[in-house]
Amino acid sequence: MEKNFTSRRIFIADSAKTIFGISAGLAGAGSLLQAACVSSPSAGGVFKTGFTQEPLPYAYNALEKSIDALTMEIHYSKHAAAYASNLQAAAKDEKVDTNEPLEKVLGSISRYSAKMRNNGGGHYNHELFWKTMAPDGGGAPTGKLLKAIESSFNSFDSFKTQFTDAGKNRFGSGWAWLFIDGDKKLRIGSTPNQDNPLMDISDIKGFPVMGLDVWEHAYYLRYQNKRPDYINAWWNVVNWKYVQGRYESQ
Ligand code: MN
Repeated sequence: MEKNFTSRRIFIADSAKTIFGISAGLAGAGSLLQAACVSSPSAGGVFKTGFTQEPLPYAYNALEKSIDALTMEIHYSKHAAAYASNLQAAAKDEKVDTNEPLEKVLGSISRYSAKMRNNGGGHYNHELFWKTMAPDGGGAPTGKLLKAIESSFNSFDSFKTQFTDAGKNRFGSGWAWLFIDGDKKLRIGSTPNQDNPLMDISDIKGFPVMGLDVWEHAYYLRYQNKRPDYINAWWNVVNWKYVQGRYESQ
């Protein structure tokens, strides 16, 4: 697992050069990132999170149909960057080995400080969030994930309604989640602040397949108080290939 974690980080670093270089288009680099996450023979090991920000897998304006470029830029380079840097400070103070995946800390987060909980969750949630969106996203999942969604929530439409409601009804700041619980069942839920289902203190526990940021900073510039409009638009950029890869890794 450690070997895969390390080689993924090297691969991502190489992809980042491609993204910000002039030799390849953004779409091509995005596909490489997606392939790295989906096609690994040990998929469970590849979905591990480090303590530093990975490059955004697309340009700030790439999701413009749903999320405007300025929101993306502030969200990634200010909000998410602060979670990463505060997490690194907390890890140093609390003697966490940052060569180990962040998931290990989150699973026993009750043993750490509030700073670790807020910023470890914040960093993990955003690293996941960027990957679960793509400029050519939207539509519906296929294969095993679609079957599991239909079995757990009756239909894809009913799933969308329930997930949308989880985001709409989360009071204040937080996240909506699609996750796999301890009985390997797909479930929908939400968490406050930057908590997530990996945390031992969370009311909902399991493996996060997909998360939606419903903090106001994620949508306020374009959508103001209309969170449901943001969520409805967000469905048009969901990267189902990546989400399916996460589901199938479990
Ligand atoms: Mn956010």
